[in-house]
Amino acid sequence: MTAYERSRILLRFADLIDKHNDELAALETWDNGKPYAQAAHIEVPMVARLMRYYAGWADKIHGLVVPADGPHHVQVLHEPIGVAGQIIPWNFPLLMFAWKVGPALACGNTVVLKTAEQTPLSALYISKLLHEAGLPDGVVNVVSGFGPTAGAALASHMDVDKIAFTGSTDTGKIVLELAARSNLKSVTLELGGKSPFIIMDDADVDHAVELAHFALFFNQGQCCCAGSRTFVHERIYDEFVEKAKARALKRVVGDPFKNGVEQGPQIDDEQFNKILRYIRYGVESGANLVTGGDRLGDKGYYIQPTIFSDVKDNMKIAQEEIFGPVQSILKFNDLNEVIKRANASQYGLAAGVFTNNLNTANTLTRALRVGTVWVNCFDVFDAAIPFGGYKQSGIGREKGIDSLKNYLQIKAVVTPIKNA
Ligand code: ADP
Repeated sequence: MTAYERSRILLRFADLIDKHNDELAALETWDNGKPYAQAAHIEVPMVARLMRYYAGWADKIHGLVVPADGPHHVQVLHEPIGVAGQIIPWNFPLLMFAWKVGPALACGNTVVLKTAEQTPLSALYISKLLHEAGLPDGVVNVVSGFGPTAGAALASHMDVDKIAFTGSTDTGKIVLELAARSNLKSVTLELGGKSPFIIMDDADVDHAVELAHFALFFNQGQCCCAGSRTFVHERIYDEFVEKAKARALKRVVGDPFKNGVEQGPQIDDEQFNKILRYIRYGVESGANLVTGGDRLGDKGYYIQPTIFSDVKDNMKIAQEEIFGPVQSILKFNDLNEVIKRANASQYGLAAGVFTNNLNTANTLTRALRVGTVWVNCFDVFDAAIPFGGYKQSGIGREKGIDSLKNYLQIKAVVTPIKNA
């Protein structure tokens, strides 16, 4: 298929996504429990936007002619890598589908994608639209299956040329090992995080509270990049904690299909119990439970928006990924100290910085060992912005121009130049 045809299919696909926005969002909420408004107004439109972004790339991917020392004509061809295996998680099923399938198709590959066992529906529905947009049979194949069986089969398959995985760091390591043990397929990983959100003392406290609240509680706290270590300067610490508590108490938790609901249930009983376990660890280790701390009601996997203050770096809740609506607030008083503490993590996915001081912002953005720094904002996801992690948060980048590299193989062609 020509690059232009691929581009046209992706554009038609984007139009069909817009047309079916409400059904896709409803499936997403049904499967995942996230607020319908979030799926309908933010996530599904972003999926369409991503497809238009990659449609724009499809016919602009080309190789190079490079100068060599000697009488040689040297071409560097960028070819599709082949069969791309893709394994996605349950927290943003459609967005993760888009981050993976968009660049794979733009670059001319075929795909076998495994959805998370908790959320199989929306990928099946959207694939029907991809077919309707003109994609031939067999180019994108969706497998609904379990991780240790279907996922592992994909990661270790000898005919799969590349594997892209999003999920936990532990599972990412298994995927990397399976790839190494089988055919050394190339691997990109987007894994866990424990992202610091650093609030300096020059900050507008009300604004900082709102942003830090969003950074942690968005999507029921089920984001790999969640701002799960809220570092607050000691000069504004007490005021911040009081206001963060008031904001958490105002958070509307309930039926995700109801208007105005900000937080739905957690994904499943396993995550629900794991989060409650972390809350117990927090209490037992001496952190101060400011608000929340238990399930909400007695039906469904709803958890009270929870805040701990006086959290110390060595506590489990400050080191491990909770993946739930639990905010940990830590105190600091010096820029160098907070840089050191923020970086003292096995993860390096993202960070938030809140300050009006340009020098402070510049110092922090350079010093933090993370794949994304949001300055005076958080969770800004644009199709053109690369996303991925340092350290044990992953390998490679998704979205943006960097994501194309994951789906291209490079071939050098060398021809002697001789006079005829
Ligand atoms: P979580 O613990 O949040 O469910 P996982 O990393 O286990 O995160 O899951 C993310 C994705 O990885 C899911 O699609 C899941 O089915 C898949 N998965 C889980 N275990 C394996 C495995 N051993 N090999 C390949 N994929 C797996």
